Amino acid sequence: MMRAAAATTMKTTPSSYSYLTARKTMTQNNGTPAITIKNHQMDNINNNRRRRRQRILHIVSEGTGRFIVGGNWKCNGNRESVKALVDALNKNIANIEKNCDIYCCPTFLHLNYVKENLDARFKVCAQNSWVEADLVDPEHHYDSTTGAFTGEISAEMLEDLQVPFVLLGHSERRTLLGDTDEIVGKKVAHARYHGLSVVVCVGETLEERENGTTFDVIFKQLKAVAKEIDDREHSSWGSSVVIAYEPIWAIGTGKVATPEQVQEVHSKIRSWLAENVSEDVAKATRIQYGGSVNASNCADLAKLSDIDGFLVGGASLNGDDFAAICNASSVHYKAVGR
Ligand code: PEP
Repeated sequence: MMRAAAATTMKTTPSSYSYLTARKTMTQNNGTPAITIKNHQMDNINNNRRRRRQRILHIVSEGTGRFIVGGNWKCNGNRESVKALVDALNKNIANIEKNCDIYCCPTFLHLNYVKENLDARFKVCAQNSWVEADLVDPEHHYDSTTGAFTGEISAEMLEDLQVPFVLLGHSERRTLLGDTDEIVGKKVAHARYHGLSVVVCVGETLEERENGTTFDVIFKQLKAVAKEIDDREHSSWGSSVVIAYEPIWAIGTGKVATPEQVQEVHSKIRSWLAENVSEDVAKATRIQYGGSVNASNCADLAKLSDIDGFLVGGASLNGDDFAAICNASSVHYKAVGR
């Protein structure tokens, strides 16, 4: 399918690194000008520099994708409360702007009910999918993850049920259920192989933030995903991998990352993608923020140029609040002039 194209892009497309290199070379050359440069020529050079600098900043600091909001229902709900939430969301649909993509992640048990009963504007998203982590397979032909894996749900099954999204690498799975960076990478590559759109969560603990290793942690998580997608036949990044930056210290704690912290991490993630995957992927990838987002704090965060949406836990269990968070899309488009 698309894997070959993705691999080629990764190896041959000039990333923002090449622009940065070109700029540096120019500066070095300008350090020893061979001819006298007249004022108007200097103006031109400065204008070109300014334009190039803007181009570099644009490449690494803003995505082009539609705003996207996800509701992570986690291990919550019973038949009655799930029905009530579906009804509340459906009631709100007329109030939700059309400029936003939305997905909801019920438990596996409720997935089919939600898919059948929730308005089609809300896509359904599974909270996990299985791959056999210990499989020693240098060619990454772990083609079937169905079989003797009691209690697990495979990407094949999600594809069969026409579930379009899967959430992978949530910190609760990483910290409580042993999902390593490598396993998350394999899960992402395998889900992409089966045509699923993936939301992959990355983020640091409070300790990692405080000891200054936030970016080491996040880049390592991203690297594992990029490696597995690249190694895996018929898997690709494309525009179908959404990244959710979720600082672990902000999840379910009521402690939201500051806009400056969010903007810094998001723009670094986008630069990382430009340098390590491709510029096209960097621009197309939606980067969500998750961690105690609610109806009151979403507008301030949505103004950031580099935020492409939210992943919402607690507040997604309230239909009115979730609708209000989705509508932060308009605040975002206005702030970035789109
Ligand atoms: C989450 O679990 O993905 C999350 C962001 O939770 P909360 O919004 O409750 O912090």
